[in-house]
Amino acid sequence: MIVSLDEPIISMEDRGYQFGDGVYEVTKVYNGRLFAFAQHRERLYRSLRELRIPAVWTAEELQQFHQLLIAESGIKDGGVYLQITRGVAPRAHNFPENVVPKLTMSIRPAGSANASLRETGAKILFAPDERWLRCDIKSLNLLGNLMAKQKAKEAGCFEAVMIRDGVITEGSSSNFMIVKDGVLWTHPLGNLILKGVTRTLIVEKIAPELGLPVIEKAFNTSFAGGADEAFVCGTNTEIVPVVTMDNNPVANGQVGAVTRKLQQAFNKLIDIECQR
Ligand code: PMP
Repeated sequence: MIVSLDEPIISMEDRGYQFGDGVYEVTKVYNGRLFAFAQHRERLYRSLRELRIPAVWTAEELQQFHQLLIAESGIKDGGVYLQITRGVAPRAHNFPENVVPKLTMSIRPAGSANASLRETGAKILFAPDERWLRCDIKSLNLLGNLMAKQKAKEAGCFEAVMIRDGVITEGSSSNFMIVKDGVLWTHPLGNLILKGVTRTLIVEKIAPELGLPVIEKAFNTSFAGGADEAFVCGTNTEIVPVVTMDNNPVANGQVGAVTRKLQQAFNKLIDIECQR
């Protein structure tokens, strides 16, 4: 069923609404085609498994739903949001039995704000990572992320990059990387960060193709302070250069050459996959 975005479709007792008991994905559409859909789908299935929410839709069905929304909306460049909650059940903390998961999706055209930041670079703020310990699950529970992002906004920054136990984990809605002495550094995978699809493309495909060594190892803000370049990356963000961190310029405060190369290579990936 396709309805207008302002039509009520959520039940009061949907577990996603009451507990944030669900997961989500956002997949980009370029030139009317899905980008990196297989990776988003696999991460969605993993999030569902980790939360023991039954995956009652096949990979083909999920793809068809996305394509239906693209076709019906006519949107060429935008983002598809998908969320699956455990379903509707009388409110109780334990997982209800025999409940049917609920899937809802929406599509929106791409905004223009990030496009200009990709050119000029952005400011980031360091903020404490106050989230739970399963940040690898793309769950609907985003309060820690929202609180950090709001702090960034109030400080005039694009993103909050979070710190837990003295090390930088990730952005509130992005992964964080630095370039230092020709090496790309980013926090290792595990329960403390989301395995970003963009991060994976950079670490496993783009950096090796550019001959850029990658070190997946935790580092602190003073190490990051000595970086030659820094950037945040994500599905909506793509690659946004970071030019100041807590008001201190990164190197000379200009967008770095390696970041530009990564952006170009990332754009090429989109061009190829989405026939742009
Ligand atoms: N970390 C967090 C906390 C995020 O919300 C996002 C955005 N989904 C990312 C990293 C980047 O992930 P992706 O590249 O898959 O969008």
